[in-house]
Amino acid sequence: MNSTGLLGKIHSIESMGTHDGPGIRAVVFLQGCRFRCLYCHNPDTWPEDGGTLMTVDALLERLLRYKPYFMPSGGGVTVSGGEPLLQAAFVTELFRGLKDAGIHTCLDTAGDYTFLESSLLDQLLQVTDLVLLDIKHTKPHKHRVLTGRSDIPAPVFARLLKQRSIPVWLRYVVVPGYTDDEAAVSAFKELAASLSNVQNIEFLPFHKMGEYKWKALNLPYKLSSVEPPSEEFMARLSKGEQPHPA
Ligand code: SF4
Repeated sequence: MNSTGLLGKIHSIESMGTHDGPGIRAVVFLQGCRFRCLYCHNPDTWPEDGGTLMTVDALLERLLRYKPYFMPSGGGVTVSGGEPLLQAAFVTELFRGLKDAGIHTCLDTAGDYTFLESSLLDQLLQVTDLVLLDIKHTKPHKHRVLTGRSDIPAPVFARLLKQRSIPVWLRYVVVPGYTDDEAAVSAFKELAASLSNVQNIEFLPFHKMGEYKWKALNLPYKLSSVEPPSEEFMARLSKGEQPHPA
């Protein structure tokens, strides 16, 4: 394994994650995000100048300690955020080290890749086994309301991953009144159907577990009055049925 002292900004590390990719996984949450999703449960990851500095080598050493726990389950390591593509060089070196150790690598991203040099993106994707890609919304004006940005990089990134035959799990957060209408869900499904590299689709129910962080950071939380979608609604979506039956 090549030695690298490249520094990354780490928000936190979870040793036994079961929601971010196949099997049991160590999940590394990186600092920094340029979206402002209304439902974000980690707004403390937003500032790009925060987090704890750690070298690739130190992080690798720590992750390798968890290997006996995640390997038998078919798991591996997921790098999430914040937005991990903001630290693409660091993630590339980390994934390279993990691949050298025979560990499955997964990138959990909102697909905000447009600022990256194509050679760096190429190098990162060469050592990425799976991408968990969040589709926030497919319509610019609604995407802007939901995330603070009207550009929608994720579908473009999804097509780029398709060209490279990189497996993708698409994720879609179901927020009542924002993303649960027929048109929005249909547009998401159409996008998924157009991508032959999509291995899995996850509809995730909106929840308010991160609301306390917004309050602690003095940020206005606009979804206080929005209730999570019902279990029945989520079950219909997961079965591929129309979300709002006629
Ligand atoms: S992309 Fe993720 S980390 Fe960034 S604001 Fe949205 S939910 Fe939060």
